[in-house]
Amino acid sequence: MQNALLAYATPIFFALIFAEAWWARRKGKDFFEFSDSLTSIGCGVFTVTLELFAKAFLLGLFIVVEQRFAMWHWSVDSWVTWLVFFILLDFVYYWAHRWSHEINFLWGGHVPHHQSEHYNLTTALRQGAWQDISHWPLYLILALVGCPASVFIILLTVSKLYQFWIHTRLIDKIPLIEGILNTPSAHRVHHGINDPYIDRNHGGTLMIWDRIFGTYVKEDEPVVFGVRKAFRSRNPLTAHVDWLVTLWRDAALSYRWQDRFTIWFHRTGWRPEGAKQRDFRPPFSLEEFRLYAPVLDTAHKRAGFVWFMLAITANTTMLLGFGHIGWGAQLLLAALVILTLWRMAVVFTVPE
Ligand SMILES: [Zn+2]
Repeated sequence: MQNALLAYATPIFFALIFAEAWWARRKGKDFFEFSDSLTSIGCGVFTVTLELFAKAFLLGLFIVVEQRFAMWHWSVDSWVTWLVFFILLDFVYYWAHRWSHEINFLWGGHVPHHQSEHYNLTTALRQGAWQDISHWPLYLILALVGCPASVFIILLTVSKLYQFWIHTRLIDKIPLIEGILNTPSAHRVHHGINDPYIDRNHGGTLMIWDRIFGTYVKEDEPVVFGVRKAFRSRNPLTAHVDWLVTLWRDAALSYRWQDRFTIWFHRTGWRPEGAKQRDFRPPFSLEEFRLYAPVLDTAHKRAGFVWFMLAITANTTMLLGFGHIGWGAQLLLAALVILTLWRMAVVFTVPE
């Protein structure tokens, strides 16, 4: 059911993206870049494709843990259940998200969401395919305390849908709710690479966790969006391995054997002795940051768009066909999604 819901939500997402693009253009704001937007949505398409297989297994695991090992049992019909797990899920999400920023290998799962140097509603769809999978061990805590699987999956979906509208630069600070709920302003800070904004505002729906645990910062100076190790590409597939390959290379270049294992669990950005010397990277400087801006003519944009639409079509067929068509056909469609996204990336690979 969740898969079909996602397929039906797609036109609504697109309508809101077009509305935001129209509004931005009316205000004379340059918030969108064509190939960046398609790459961001492409990351989401790849994530949905992969999760179609992964979540069938992970949700099964959640149900087994909840039914066999839960400490308590909660009624789906009680509003107390929904309230308790809304708060608990948001709390767990805060820590899962925070550690996804702070720990090297978890950052590899979350980094696609932050790679865009623009910030608009397409950024919301730019999800990392490994992210939810890496969060699952923490989500199983909810199963252990007895969260019914149906409550969990609905609340997780609500949390994701809530986080869609906050990815916009068109809405300023909102009086009364700043610092309580997650807002466009609070979340812009989260996507900033300015010094005061790094690893701040990790909350999903609520902002109170950041205030309690000391990671809350108000939007003050203009936000520069992106990641400090810039992803200068329009490939939604390599976006998912970029940071992991960087870690692998650093591990291979390290002097000490133990660093090759521990690098994955160190603070994000930590580099072992050996990697620093053999592959020097200058420290990040905001003054030297420049936007990645490949120059695309109309023919390239059209060709990229055709491949993008083919990827969307194959992915939507997968979602609507879930439960009706076999896993073999789903695998073929998944291969088609990957192939078409790759072709789109090839078209978008042009000099700056
Ligand atoms: Zn994040």
